[in-house]
Amino acid sequence: MTSPQVAVLGAGILGVSTAVQLLRGGASVTLVTEAHPASGASGRSFSWLNSGGGYSPDYHRLRLAGMDRYRTLLAENPDIDWLRFDGGLYWEMTAPDGGASQTAANPALAARCEAQQDQGYDARLVPADEIPRVVSGLDPAALPPTLLFNPGEGWVSLPHLIRHLLREFELRGGTLVTAAGPVSVALEAGAAVGLRSGGGELYPADAVVVAAGAGTPEVLGRLGVGLPDSSEPAMLVVTAPKVHGLRAVLNTPRASVRPHPGSRLAMDSTWYLDSITRNENGGWSVDPQMVLDLVDEASALLAGHPRLVAQSWRIGLKPVPGDGLPVLGELAGVPGCYAAFTHSGATLGLIAGELLAREIMTGRRHPLLAPFRPERLAPDAAVPGG
Ligand SMILES: Cc1cc2nc3c(=O)[nH]c(=O)nc-3n(C[C@H](O)[C@H](O)[C@H](O)COP(=O)(O)OP(=O)(O)OC[C@H]3O[C@@H](n4cnc5c(N)ncnc54)[C@H](O)[C@@H]3O)c2cc1C
Repeated sequence: MTSPQVAVLGAGILGVSTAVQLLRGGASVTLVTEAHPASGASGRSFSWLNSGGGYSPDYHRLRLAGMDRYRTLLAENPDIDWLRFDGGLYWEMTAPDGGASQTAANPALAARCEAQQDQGYDARLVPADEIPRVVSGLDPAALPPTLLFNPGEGWVSLPHLIRHLLREFELRGGTLVTAAGPVSVALEAGAAVGLRSGGGELYPADAVVVAAGAGTPEVLGRLGVGLPDSSEPAMLVVTAPKVHGLRAVLNTPRASVRPHPGSRLAMDSTWYLDSITRNENGGWSVDPQMVLDLVDEASALLAGHPRLVAQSWRIGLKPVPGDGLPVLGELAGVPGCYAAFTHSGATLGLIAGELLAREIMTGRRHPLLAPFRPERLAPDAAVPGG
């Protein structure tokens, strides 16, 4: 296919990243989104860049490639303040005795570290009194006796990254359509031939990419493709500016915390998820006390216990495929329609866009994506009447 016309549904990190890669490859690209860029999960993501969760070799390889692309981006843009690799610090639920037993021999933490090391992932168990040498800005009294340090991990602010990529998108002549309402895939004889906006406008294309985040199963469901969906509510809190010394990403039992541009901190956790409710108008609510408590949990970890104020808290669905693994590639039953639906979309954002765009441009299936094809979850995907 030479200089194809491609229409991308969804201006989150996956859609924007794929769209820019397609333009780099020489395609003409129209990016169509319901509201505005980063209005979905990418606008409220903790975005820890990592591969330390005991993943399969295939998934680990893909995640490492994802982190590698971020390192390249940072090397090419050393002055940006929205992407850093200053390490990650992890510890698990404190034992009932208040942590006295959480020594270097703590079995779960030691096993996690060893499994990471077995994969060649940089992982070190560090005693609390040595932490100030590797991670700044913490209150030593808040730490368990032993912690897991991953020097190669980082974080990104996806709204900043999306703005950065959209500048290139515009320079390369891409067309961005915002406020398009609920967009669907247009079909002819069972193949994708473009996107149709909520208002009925058709954006014709040789290939389409559905990167609708948690909306992906619904968009594909209308094509007869049943994608198991485990998307779940999540909340990101961002503080008002406050001087702090934290540079690493913290993943602790009560709060995950990372730096955020503008001397802010971003944080999330899971213990309050039961108190998140869906409103009749489709929005989300949380007991404001939960936000205050999360901010207090974060403050308690930091040197000097700074008084943190929540400036924003954003709630919505976090996209999660049914089996927890990425869904990337062309739909077996709908030629010309590619899906991009994944849980760790921050870590994978750049690499997924790169590989999907390459598949569309070359017609060659990339071996790194082989374990993540849509047909493993929707083997009978077929278009009604197609
Ligand atoms: C609180 C939280 C913490 C997270 N932490 C991490 C982490 O630490 N590390 C990590 O790697 N990942 C993390 N993630 C996951 C990651 O942020 C997401 O996987 C990623 O942002 C998804 O990007 P996306 O482009 O697929 O979807 P989205 O960002 O949701 O973008 C999809 C876009 O499509 C639009 N859309 C949807 N349906 C339609 C339709 N029918 N028509 C038109 N437009 C439509 C939406 O409005 C949206 O703008 C986290 C997510 C959350 C919410």
